[in-house]
Amino acid sequence: MITDDITSIERYFILLYNFYSTEENVAVMTTDIFDRTKDSQELVYPGTRLAVTEEFISGSGTYSDNGYIFASVTGAVTIDMEKHEITVISKAKMVIIPKIGSIVVGNISNVSRRMVSIALRFIDNVETYPTYTCVVHVSQIYKGYLESADEVLNPGDVVRCKIIDAKTIPLQATFIGSQLGVLVSHCSICGGKMDKIGRDKLKCSKCYRIEKRVTAIDYGSGHLGYKL
Ligand SMILES: [Zn+2]
Repeated sequence: MITDDITSIERYFILLYNFYSTEENVAVMTTDIFDRTKDSQELVYPGTRLAVTEEFISGSGTYSDNGYIFASVTGAVTIDMEKHEITVISKAKMVIIPKIGSIVVGNISNVSRRMVSIALRFIDNVETYPTYTCVVHVSQIYKGYLESADEVLNPGDVVRCKIIDAKTIPLQATFIGSQLGVLVSHCSICGGKMDKIGRDKLKCSKCYRIEKRVTAIDYGSGHLGYKL
């Protein structure tokens, strides 16, 4: 159902937004997961922070790092209270084939001068697993000339783009269009949340550094879903 998919996209946004969150937020998120696990099918994603290692053992579908337990797969969280073990059970996903015109959302995995690679998480508002990769050539970032893709895109940025060639591997996509571009970004120096302060201009909420990004018109709005 489309409604559910958009909800899961928005949850993904919130998780990413809180990725570099404060200790207080972590506590809130941990409690949330606790309450949810009893009866819900709510999903977590690779990299979602689930708990602290002082309280739980990292079970299958998770990994521990620096005192925290993170999900290593997309799936539903379960907690064994006797063993104090937290696991994520991978959830099988619908197989979705991207086509020309599909609107996709994913994370930038690599940036070079001539192109960026994107690990796709959603195709036409439906979660995809395992992920596809698409690339955007530097000429498909702006209508005008851009010297280098790394001027306006950073690894880790969450972006929305449109597939323009689905027959090649990797898929080819474009950022040209007001609803396409970066949706969530973090400071390349301190990891702080970036707020939009102007067209394609972001300011770090922690260190106040200003960086340039090719932003979608709804950057930071909390809606990753795309409505035609
Ligand atoms: Zn910063």
